[in-house]
Amino acid sequence: MFTVTLKSDFKWGIALFNRFAKRLNFLDTTLRDGEQTPGVSLIPENKLRIAQRLDELGIDIIEAGFAAVSEGELEAVRLIAKQGLNAEVASAGRGTKNDIDAVIKSDAQTMCMIIPTSDLHIEQKLHKTRDQVLKTTEECITYAKAHGLKVDLLAEDATRSDFNYLLKVFQTAENCGVDRVTPCDTVGILTPDRTYEFFTNLTTTIKVPVGVHCHNDFGMAVANTIAGLGAGAQVAHGTINGLGERAGNAAIEEIAVTLHSLYKQQLRIKTELLYNTSQLVSRLTGVYTQPNKAIVGENAFKHESGIHTQGMLANPLTYEPFPPELVGRNRRIAQGKHSGSHAIKADLDCMGINPSEEQFREIFQRIKELGDKGKEILDADVLAIAENVMGLAGVKSIELQEMTFVGGDKVSATASVHLCVNGKDVCGTAVGVGPVDAAINAVKDAIKETEVIELEQYNVKAITGGTDAMVEVMVNMRKGTRIVTAMGVREDIVKASIEAVISAMNVLTTDYRNGNNPNNNNSTKKLA
Ligand SMILES: [Zn+2]
Repeated sequence: MFTVTLKSDFKWGIALFNRFAKRLNFLDTTLRDGEQTPGVSLIPENKLRIAQRLDELGIDIIEAGFAAVSEGELEAVRLIAKQGLNAEVASAGRGTKNDIDAVIKSDAQTMCMIIPTSDLHIEQKLHKTRDQVLKTTEECITYAKAHGLKVDLLAEDATRSDFNYLLKVFQTAENCGVDRVTPCDTVGILTPDRTYEFFTNLTTTIKVPVGVHCHNDFGMAVANTIAGLGAGAQVAHGTINGLGERAGNAAIEEIAVTLHSLYKQQLRIKTELLYNTSQLVSRLTGVYTQPNKAIVGENAFKHESGIHTQGMLANPLTYEPFPPELVGRNRRIAQGKHSGSHAIKADLDCMGINPSEEQFREIFQRIKELGDKGKEILDADVLAIAENVMGLAGVKSIELQEMTFVGGDKVSATASVHLCVNGKDVCGTAVGVGPVDAAINAVKDAIKETEVIELEQYNVKAITGGTDAMVEVMVNMRKGTRIVTAMGVREDIVKASIEAVISAMNVLTTDYRNGNNPNNNNSTKKLA
């Protein structure tokens, strides 16, 4: 079944999949299959925010929900459908008149019509026969088309179906005017080679565009999706962060970057928006990605090991397959027990700290010792160690003088802070969704004249014991392309948050060059 033709510019990818369509489309089902993740339920307003971001990202078809599920779900689909997005808006539904009517009512342009084709599903779930399902397919597509819907027929459990029967269902659908057909690998049992064979057989027989919809039960959803596209399928189904039931669906960000970087396919996806989109979906669904997740995981562009960072500082391509900017991210060097001297020197250099050889050996030693104790070493720790060893420790650029916050169920959370910034008193006031948000916004407000520093990530790391236990807040903050980490540990979550934020800001604003040393009594100078 494989035809091997290697393109000459194919440096890394395996070019066995050689039947890519000229135009590849993406169907994002984060708001339908993704929302079926246990514990995830999005309110219509948040569904809309995700849909707008997916539209900006360049997704061709947004499956916005399952209109027949509830009145609220129907409203969410309608809310998205009436936005006039560039993307086609679709709603899922089963092969019943009731479900088709709900899709019509939702104003979605397209129905993703789910009809099972495996004997297992037909007999055990629907208690029907193959002929009955064939008849349902015919009736439902004819009815939906007569009501002006575009129809994508999603054959459920297609990969465990009798292939000839599946073809018969798809051919019947074609005769009724179906717009696309998508065999679903409902329980993720395909392998890339089987997928290639399956889709080659399908796309050489079926005339309408074919979609590929893979689940990740064996961790092969992305690989299978690529294989399906490489065999002529035109529409890649997937979800942001690979959300979905059980082990999830194929991750859109991984499919897009693989197609772009390894298979050199032209896409309309704006890859530089992938990280932001992933973060938005994480925040709104409350499902965080694992640190080592491809493309969007916290560690995907973070380097700690000594040998790696040395090569990386010389040329990032030594240990990165593509630059982080491609997906809207920045590279980070993390210090730990694996850190090499090059990485630590580079870090200190950012802050204008130039230790003598002897001082550096001491700094290096202390960082390693801390790492050996199993502690994650934060940028704030590196600064503190260096200042301590070199006798620089003293006044911080930014210090908290006073903080007030009010909140309740009838008033917006409001915070005000007094900071001492390089010896000068400054104030900031802000509102937020809660006291932590308000307090962080107030700090940002106070320093906005001198610094543009953004909060990249906020994690409450550990709360142990009772309600008066210690809270550990970890933040990543960014100034330009530099990102640093810092922590705050207090019994009060607002205080812990502010401590972490100010500590990170102090690392970012520390620059011992140009006489900007807080210890050299030049403290009223503008921050670096
Ligand atoms: Zn699915």
